[in-house]
Amino acid sequence: MKIQRKPDWLKLRLSGAAEFASTKKLIADHGLNTVCRSAQCPNRQECWSSGTATFLLLGDSCTRNCRFCAVIAASGPLPLPFSGEPRRIAQAVRKMQLSHVVLTSVTRDDLQDGGSFAWAATIEAVRTENPEATIECLIPDFQGNHDALHRVMKMRPDVLNHNVETVPVLYEFVRPQADYPRSLEVLRIAKQEYALHIKSGLMVGMGETEEQVKGVLDDLAGIGCEHLTIGQYLQPSLQHFPVHSYVTPECFERYRMYALESGFRSVQSGPYVRSSYHAAENV
Ligand code: SF4
Repeated sequence: MKIQRKPDWLKLRLSGAAEFASTKKLIADHGLNTVCRSAQCPNRQECWSSGTATFLLLGDSCTRNCRFCAVIAASGPLPLPFSGEPRRIAQAVRKMQLSHVVLTSVTRDDLQDGGSFAWAATIEAVRTENPEATIECLIPDFQGNHDALHRVMKMRPDVLNHNVETVPVLYEFVRPQADYPRSLEVLRIAKQEYALHIKSGLMVGMGETEEQVKGVLDDLAGIGCEHLTIGQYLQPSLQHFPVHSYVTPECFERYRMYALESGFRSVQSGPYVRSSYHAAENV
């Protein structure tokens, strides 16, 4: 496939070097991973310069091998969850004075509990140390393991996020170890059994059609999903799934309008939107 040239609307402006450095140091001093860095998020300059970041639990290597994702895919046995990580995250949140905390993790299919105990411990630690902060959890599917899902949902995060990532027909090419109905089920359980506020997101520009995207939005709206993010897929390296197209701002706006008309309460739709981008604005 031909490599796509980036259009003008994908050019970023850089600013805030001192604030960026201070966020970077604080994260390093606490020995933490962030998805901002591990996933090569294009918004890192903006977010870290404004003193926010998304913490990555359970290490920096993932047992899935999604073809869109820059996080390291692990082939061998991975370290056990790091002791003290919940406390270190909680302390970093306090020092950063975050009013809204976004937590996510690598997928740990190698662990019997999928890492759910570490998730629960982190939510607890962040809440204890930062009682005023709201907590958003962008969780993996835990392979549909109900014990693991319930362990996290019982902690009642303020927002439960699980990304469907793309349209169902592309799953086998883009995220072969995932399952679209299983992802919808994760969100359904959170909404219907725990009455949590639920959020999801997907990337576009991977070869999907507008109708297919709208079909996903219908599915999400049908289970009561309230918050949505849609962003442009960017290829992290030549080994990753190629960009099929750069979706125009007009098309992002069409998706935004369609989602709002379908009942979503908040929709972020634009080239550089990512799951946790400006997340505090939608709580
Ligand atoms: S959008 Fe999210 S992942 Fe990206 S830099 Fe900002 S906080 Fe980090």
